[in-house]
Amino acid sequence: MLNLGDSPIHADVLVCILCAMPNFEDLHAIIRASKALYAAYSRHQAQILNAVAFNHVGRALPLALLLVRHNKHMSSEEYIAEIYGDESFTKWHFQVTPEDIRQLVSNAKIVAKWEDLYSFRKKDVHHQTSQLTPLQSWRFQKALYRLMLYSRLFPADKTVYALTDTSGINITVELEKERLLRSKFLLECFTNELSQLREVTGFVGEIITWIDRVDSFDRIASNKEFIDIALSVGPAAIFDCYEKLGFEPLTEAINEMCASTTPEYLEDVESRPFFSGYLSDPISKVHQARDDDESQYTPITIIENEPSIADLFPQCSQCGSRSVFIWGETTWDFLSLSSSILGIYLFSSQAQLLKGDLPRNPVELQRIEALLVKTPFKEIFEDIHSKKLKLPEWHDRNDDYWICNQCLVRFMKDHLHLWVIMKRKEANEQIAKDCWYGYNCRTQVHKLSHAQQLNHLCEPTR
Ligand SMILES: [Zn+2]
Ligand SMILES: [Zn+2]
Repeated sequence: MLNLGDSPIHADVLVCILCAMPNFEDLHAIIRASKALYAAYSRHQAQILNAVAFNHVGRALPLALLLVRHNKHMSSEEYIAEIYGDESFTKWHFQVTPEDIRQLVSNAKIVAKWEDLYSFRKKDVHHQTSQLTPLQSWRFQKALYRLMLYSRLFPADKTVYALTDTSGINITVELEKERLLRSKFLLECFTNELSQLREVTGFVGEIITWIDRVDSFDRIASNKEFIDIALSVGPAAIFDCYEKLGFEPLTEAINEMCASTTPEYLEDVESRPFFSGYLSDPISKVHQARDDDESQYTPITIIENEPSIADLFPQCSQCGSRSVFIWGETTWDFLSLSSSILGIYLFSSQAQLLKGDLPRNPVELQRIEALLVKTPFKEIFEDIHSKKLKLPEWHDRNDDYWICNQCLVRFMKDHLHLWVIMKRKEANEQIAKDCWYGYNCRTQVHKLSHAQQLNHLCEPTR
């Protein structure tokens, strides 16, 4: 009797099974499970690794491999010569080896995270995982891998900032050399790919600005070159910043690359010739060299050919209007980042959320602020519904409840004071007698003692 894997047909089937593994984890698990499978793997390792890498990484695999092939010890010049040289563009570049796997997988993870975020923000806010079609996903991934590669080839200020003595260096010459090299790297892109790269870079820039707004009042991203500097550190560190809601990962990464940077590095407003137009200039250069008149042709965007982009916009359950952004299950968390977010990101001021003259009542305002700081927004929303504070003119929520920004502001205005008073009662706080004029009282604004003596989080009875 034959053992599994003994006959050539068996062996072929086993190789097919191994090639169909969706990722390296499964591949490693299955070859450990049987000797026959392990033998098949050992005999056909190259073929199987390539197949599984494709299953895992997807159609952007060639670019993913180019990224893995780059190593720190190679100058960008050498690397670009290598990938564009006719002879050296050998099989070696595209044969996946066991040493590649770790990096391939970790890069693919970063790309997937960015794709989820892109899809969530640009295509379908109802889902936090990518809803891109295979074609859209391929376009996005190619662009992101290119951006990752670009940032490795042209990393943060190694040349100028790191040098204390720049006397031996002719900056103009260096700059020209660098610019040429950057354009050269982009030359292999199709014109549409260049536009998509620009689109994705723009998106990463939007995220950087967003983190900045969440992170502080300083708005360092308004420094023109800040986004370019961040891009030069690469998408991985930027995503880290997004997850941690601050720029520490970026400063750390810069510091690692170039130890002489100071904490003021990012705030330093002196001009950074190596950064201005970091990626946008070379893209324009290549367009010009190709004589692409950008006004003449419409580039294929990443989310191209969707029915109509306006129809894709999510719809508000309350008023039925469609808008770019909507609040609901996948987005509540953005509302609870911190109290400054309530001020900056969503509402220009908390005053917008309060009825009548309450925004100008210092006593109530202070109490409300104290509660808002420690309560995630989602909880406030839940409370309003579950504790029956909701006014009848507002729809009941269901699994598919989404609300536009305008409606949310109105909703909060109608309910926030009711919620605050409920919270205070729950905490057994002593609550003063209601003022007859309720939230519309004028005296609460200019007479502190009145504001202190009476409760104004109530309906006017006069
Ligand atoms: Zn609405
Ligand atoms: Zn009053």
